[in-house]
Amino acid sequence: MAESGRVDIVEVGPRDGLQSEPGVLPTAVKVEFIERAIAAGARRVEVTSFVNPKRVPQMADAEAVLAALPRRPDVWYVGLVLNRRGFERAAAAGCNEIGMAVVASDTFNRRNQGVSTDESIAAWLDIAPAAQQAGIRPQVTISAAFGCPFEGEVPMARVVEIARRVAEIAPFEIALADTIGVGVPAQVTELVGRVREAVPGIPLRCHFHNTRNTGLANAFAAVLAGVRTLDASLGGIGGCPFAPAATGNIPTEDLVYLLERSGYDTGISLERAIETGRWLQEQLGRPVPGMLVKAGDFPRPADPTNRPPQVSA
Ligand code: MG
Repeated sequence: MAESGRVDIVEVGPRDGLQSEPGVLPTAVKVEFIERAIAAGARRVEVTSFVNPKRVPQMADAEAVLAALPRRPDVWYVGLVLNRRGFERAAAAGCNEIGMAVVASDTFNRRNQGVSTDESIAAWLDIAPAAQQAGIRPQVTISAAFGCPFEGEVPMARVVEIARRVAEIAPFEIALADTIGVGVPAQVTELVGRVREAVPGIPLRCHFHNTRNTGLANAFAAVLAGVRTLDASLGGIGGCPFAPAATGNIPTEDLVYLLERSGYDTGISLERAIETGRWLQEQLGRPVPGMLVKAGDFPRPADPTNRPPQVSA
């Protein structure tokens, strides 16, 4: 049976995962985490964020992490930035991709980044061309696109409008993020379809959290809707320090299992991803949320005639 194609995974554990940890991991452990992700096959890794260290002390060593990472032509190191100052730090530290976040709800944008959504959009329209000029790939995430912890339902029309506005400076990709894990698959199908229609030609990425156990179902709905890049974190660690009760990202290894057995190629070694999830539990001193770390793999049979049904692209 033919392969259904490729789905790329952006490893966000080192940033979105570790930023919610109560403790701060040593820089050397973070670097080892990133190296293990790359060894498992990750080629885009969100390695840190360039934000106020007083607000997010877990990411205070952003420059030191970048300085210690091996440079490889095939690996993109993504730094999250929220404003011009963050961008300048990320550029100086040697990120080759920056991810900017614009929150779909104004209240959450103010809590997360201290300014209105409009101001964040303006910041993106200022930063994106500067990044392009510096040879840095700019992409933007619309956060809380599926619901806001403070304002509740986020109208799809608002997300679509933000997508249109950020697309003025052609980003190489726009991400839709369910920052607090409230979305369901039908919503994913609908929102992906509407945003794609609004910004044709710009690749979409999706970012899901498993707060209400819908993360993986949402990820698969996104893939069936044509999304070919997903965020995930090894071990399923993570959350958001500025959103009440937010829990982990979808676990990379669980996502790889789901996709590979469905016929998609991810380029990630499941064995190494599981190994890294287990290593992460030792570093954090507690179990991680991912299920494959506990259950282990159930490999695809070598005989293609004996494989589970493969989704066609
Ligand atoms: Mg997140």
